[in-house]
Amino acid sequence: MTSLDTPVESLRGVATTIKKKLKNIGIETYGDLIFYFPYRFDDFSDVMLIKDVRPSNRVTVRGKIQLIHSRRARNRRMVITEALITDESGTIKAIWFNQPYLLKTLAVGEYVSLAGKTNDNFFDLQFLNPAYEKVRDGIDQLHTGRLVPVYHLGESLSQRQFRTLMKNALDTALSSIKEWLPPNMMEREHILTLQSALMYIHFPEHKEEFEQAVYRFKFEELFSLQMFNRMLRNELHHMSAPKIILDQEKRRLFLESLSFRLTEAQKRVENEILDDIQKQVPMNRLMEGDVGSGKTVVAALAALSVVSSGYQVGCMTPTEILAKQHYRTLCQLFSILDVRVCLITRSTCSISIRTSGGGTNQEEIPKKQLLLKIADGSVDIIVGTHALLEEGIQFHSLGLAIIDEQHRFGVKQRQQLRMKNNWGLMPHLLSMTATPIPRTLALTVYGDLDISLIDTLPVGRKKIITKIVPTRYREWTYDFIRKQVKAKRQVFIICALIDPSDVLGVRSVKEEYERLKKDIFPDLRIGMLHGKLKTNEKEQVMGDFLTRKSDILISTSVIEVGVDVPNATVMLIEGAERFGLAQLHQFRGRVGRSSYQSYCFLLPTEQSQEEKERLKAFVTCNNGFDLAEKDLALRGSGDIIGQRQSGMPSLKIANLADRVLIKKTHEWAEKIVGDIEKYPEVLKKIGELQKNVHLE
Ligand code: ADP
Ligand code: MG
Repeated sequence: MTSLDTPVESLRGVATTIKKKLKNIGIETYGDLIFYFPYRFDDFSDVMLIKDVRPSNRVTVRGKIQLIHSRRARNRRMVITEALITDESGTIKAIWFNQPYLLKTLAVGEYVSLAGKTNDNFFDLQFLNPAYEKVRDGIDQLHTGRLVPVYHLGESLSQRQFRTLMKNALDTALSSIKEWLPPNMMEREHILTLQSALMYIHFPEHKEEFEQAVYRFKFEELFSLQMFNRMLRNELHHMSAPKIILDQEKRRLFLESLSFRLTEAQKRVENEILDDIQKQVPMNRLMEGDVGSGKTVVAALAALSVVSSGYQVGCMTPTEILAKQHYRTLCQLFSILDVRVCLITRSTCSISIRTSGGGTNQEEIPKKQLLLKIADGSVDIIVGTHALLEEGIQFHSLGLAIIDEQHRFGVKQRQQLRMKNNWGLMPHLLSMTATPIPRTLALTVYGDLDISLIDTLPVGRKKIITKIVPTRYREWTYDFIRKQVKAKRQVFIICALIDPSDVLGVRSVKEEYERLKKDIFPDLRIGMLHGKLKTNEKEQVMGDFLTRKSDILISTSVIEVGVDVPNATVMLIEGAERFGLAQLHQFRGRVGRSSYQSYCFLLPTEQSQEEKERLKAFVTCNNGFDLAEKDLALRGSGDIIGQRQSGMPSLKIANLADRVLIKKTHEWAEKIVGDIEKYPEVLKKIGELQKNVHLE
């Protein structure tokens, strides 16, 4: 029997070549095919009498073929097929270019349906390259006379062929597809059955049917995603985590050693975290705070408690630059306490050594040796990149995993890190991000997490002055930069590209680097950073900038996350319109991290009115949340969720900005998760999703 898992080759009309072509667009089974939705429709549902057809109409006519023949065009390269079609009201001409096989398909005397746009550039009204199909009793029309689905197919498959396959697949497999949404939910929310929805999403009779089908799938996707995350959360609640006991004395010493006092927001979030880790249920919390809000020190406080309870802390970052920065910061923060910090990345292994003077030094150490120390518990805090996930690393007793800039990691990687505790306990997890998460995303994509928000910045920070710089002020901007450097400040310049490109006006890091060095700032020290550099080269460049061996750093967006250079006061962004608002906000957050007045200059290449508005919004708005909401509405969620969604059911048609539907599906998910035994179909479906995701 046919099911959704049946390979497509068992479908009539699927030979080896077509099978390959289908595979190219990710279709291997009936299920893949049936869930490959059209992206638009050609509306050929207007069936007209030939006499009523006017120029530039989008219509379908039906009639008998009076005449059909092919000829070569004068330049010999093109075959032109012409036909005359007659119905009871008149005759119309149809012309096709380079489709000589039409003569084999269509013959004089047959009834056909033609659909397309009419045109009267010549002597009379005619169809140019119309869609066609024979009219036969009792057979549905697929290509004319209806809303005709159009799919993203690439070059090799024809729409016509694909549509026919789709219809065949639906005819054979639809009856085997089982409903899984609860009946009470479907009734209350007026949700179409899965079978009808699949039929209507491909071959609707009219718009409303299509819309109802879309509604069903949106509902289903958002509901699944939330159920998925809720069930992950439930799973965690049934596991045990290390019980952490607070050491108030050490905490006091730590706080006293800081050169500042925690903000109220930092204290509140610290408490939320400490409350969690004192329980024996694994924490799964996201600490969210705008750039510069001081997340690191809060994470360090959590780490301190975990370490003083005898467990290790793993801290994972998306880049080496960030790993090194955290390593340095943590070494410094813990220098007065007996906490041993180490760093492990692909290129460097290092460990902090207490000096007799009471401070710490960092010393490189062979990887083998460090691995032993991690395994026997003689280091407490292990900072690193993805290298932390490698097979070779065995923790002695991982109690807390900290993940910085967590949207760069998928659920799977977080899960991998957690698995690294070998005492049968599930470590606590603290994720951190500077990317504000709009509420709709908090419920859906981040639904497995508890969220803590650091919603104020430390006092004394000056507002960053943000300006869009018109091209004629470019020189002025360079003068400004020069003055800042003379005042011993440092400058970031961001370009969207690494290498020069043909796109008019878009500047690349390499070109700008050469140009500025040669023509604009020959007397200043300039560094260049981009993703194609080797790790040690990146380290070198970044290190030079941190230690003020360079004045200006030209970089691609690799600089976006986390980097802390308090002495930098100017952020200049070339081709600013090419970045999302949340991302621009991240760039801006690289400056203004001290008491110096800082500046963010946007130099757009060329902008549509829409882009102008977008950048203007950025200038006036200093709130990462509002910017993220705007991004979500304007550009979709890609910028915000980054990698996170890998490892989750994917959304094909639902929109993560759809507040109303998210709220509704959230309520249903809450209700059903609390009563899940009553819904075996749902349980099964979500279980399958989990299995698929984990297998990926
Ligand atoms: P982010 O949240 O962006 O990761 P960091 O943790 O890097 O921010 O902190 C940014 C800077 O602010 C650091 O130099 C840190 O020492 C400093 N900082 C953190 N908390 C406070 C505070 N309460 N008062 C003053 N400065 C602080
Ligand atoms: Mg940070």
